[in-house]
Amino acid sequence: MDQKKHRILKTYFGFTQFRRGQEEIIDALLSGKDVLAVMPTGAGKSLCYQIPALILEGLTVVISPLISLMKDQVNALSGAGIPAAYLNSSLSPREYAETLAGAVRGDYRILYIAPERLLREDMRRLGEGLRIPMVVVDEAHCVSQWGHDFRPSYLAIAEFIRMFSKRPITAAFTATATGKVRDDIVRILNLEGPFLLTTGFNRENLYFGVERPPDKNRTLLAYLENHRNKSGIVYCSTRKAVEEICRLLNGRGFAAARYHAGLDDRERHKNQDDFIYDRTPLMVATNAFGMGIDKSNVSFVIHYHMPKNIESYYQEAGRAGRDGEPADCILLYSPQDVRINKFLIANNGDTEKDETLVNHNLELLKHMTYYATTDDCLRAHILGYFGENAPHFCGNCSNCTTQFENNDITIPAQKILSCVYRIEQRGRRFGKIMVINILKGSKSEKLLSQGLESISTYGIMAETDVHRLRTILDYLIEKEYLAQDGDEYPVVRLGPRWEEILRQKKPLSLMLPKERERKKPALAADEPPGDFREDLFIQLKELRNRLAQKARVPAYIIFSDASLRDMCRKLPQTPEQFLTVSGVGSVKMEKYGSLFTDRINAYTEANPP
Ligand code: ADP
Ligand code: MG
Repeated sequence: MDQKKHRILKTYFGFTQFRRGQEEIIDALLSGKDVLAVMPTGAGKSLCYQIPALILEGLTVVISPLISLMKDQVNALSGAGIPAAYLNSSLSPREYAETLAGAVRGDYRILYIAPERLLREDMRRLGEGLRIPMVVVDEAHCVSQWGHDFRPSYLAIAEFIRMFSKRPITAAFTATATGKVRDDIVRILNLEGPFLLTTGFNRENLYFGVERPPDKNRTLLAYLENHRNKSGIVYCSTRKAVEEICRLLNGRGFAAARYHAGLDDRERHKNQDDFIYDRTPLMVATNAFGMGIDKSNVSFVIHYHMPKNIESYYQEAGRAGRDGEPADCILLYSPQDVRINKFLIANNGDTEKDETLVNHNLELLKHMTYYATTDDCLRAHILGYFGENAPHFCGNCSNCTTQFENNDITIPAQKILSCVYRIEQRGRRFGKIMVINILKGSKSEKLLSQGLESISTYGIMAETDVHRLRTILDYLIEKEYLAQDGDEYPVVRLGPRWEEILRQKKPLSLMLPKERERKKPALAADEPPGDFREDLFIQLKELRNRLAQKARVPAYIIFSDASLRDMCRKLPQTPEQFLTVSGVGSVKMEKYGSLFTDRINAYTEANPP
């Protein structure tokens, strides 16, 4: 079995190594366990069920919310030599009937179905005589109304699964789920003792930036000017803004398409396809655009307005850099965005006004606003929001690169530790807040009534900003100079390494937000040119685009940019060498190998290394 999954990974998908989490999920599914996997966009969730689908006997059903996504996935699978199909409203009745008949005949290994179709009477045919070993729910957060993309049709999934006499393994995948949403997924989909895996939300290749420009249009245009020839999305919160920005960009010579729910279906599809097929590099859109867009070479996502919560923001911004290349996620913030969002939340037309839900949404908006205005590490804020512990400094966001500087914290560390030392001397134990209050010299009743102002370290850090004090304290705990125990009321005490600070006077330094006034960062610069063979890359892209046009599929279905880059690095000249390129499996090798190696040979002859 072990051999098999690795063999499939290489032969069909062209990869030599599993990414984080993939193998565990595949193993769990193959051992018959239900799975709930929370992995960030671009982490490679599809492989986690596609490989088991090829190993398990029968037809795997995948429920997926968006038509464009299904088409893309089926294209990609067919391109890799895996028989797959989809059932959704884009098919004519005849195509629909043929596909269903094909599925029942056993023509496919993977069948994508739109949730709206699940309870149709004819779906019962899948259960008759056909073995359905596994049902996969993609974008599983759509079952929860506490998420940001609730789809009532997802509630039919549990009933659909019950239709089969032998219960299929159920696997749920999502990129964003807070604890509440995770609980909903398990409950509503009836997952049985699922294997839970969260690989973490961090996406290292994404740069996060917040700007508060006096003139958003100017900032946007300047950014685009610096990123010509790259593909990106500009999100706006209203249709009107989409229209205006799209007109502005076109007027300045940027090829941009628009997308919002007010356009007719035909134009929406056309614009989306133009973007996916790289005919139009820029998309200006409302949040109606993007779910199910797996375009891998999106280099930036700019939010012209602030979205209403961090889940939406991270999902939308996360559409950048799926290919693992460096990409930018930039939010253009103005305080007016908060007012607009409050209005939208209070006037959400399609649901009856449910006060709890409105309050819940206002609460989420607060977190988002905090993100837009904080001086702390942006990545740490996002990860913290999803319940993950992250270092307070990532070095790859607009706050870390401009707002942080290295600080000597030797003295503050000594002060904090000696305060904890004094507290312990008195046989007392306190939580973080109380320790901070003592250091700050707080006059709170609780503190004074216990006589704590007589501790010798009382007030010795009165001048230090509370937030900063807390960051240093957390750092000292992280590094085990201090320790924290107790679950419900965790108390701070000296950690195993305390003597290094208090006795050996070890010097310490830490990246901390600058104390002076916040200065707005310049936008992230373009990636450095390096010694990359850009000219070959462009030639290979042309070849790929021609093939894509002929096959009528998006270019990245043939090869991703990452694969082309790998070719430029490895310069493969033989079939064996070509097979070592990331993303090249045996089917693609057969189909495209000689075309690409010929081109590369011609290039290396003309440009000897
Ligand atoms: P997700 O659904 O988690 O957002 P996808 O399944 O669409 O992500 O995968 C994102 C990209 O990562 C795809 O281009 C895919 O081919 C690539 N990928 C997935 N697994 C691997 C792997 N093990 N090695 C290299 N690339 C991978
Ligand atoms: Mg996906």
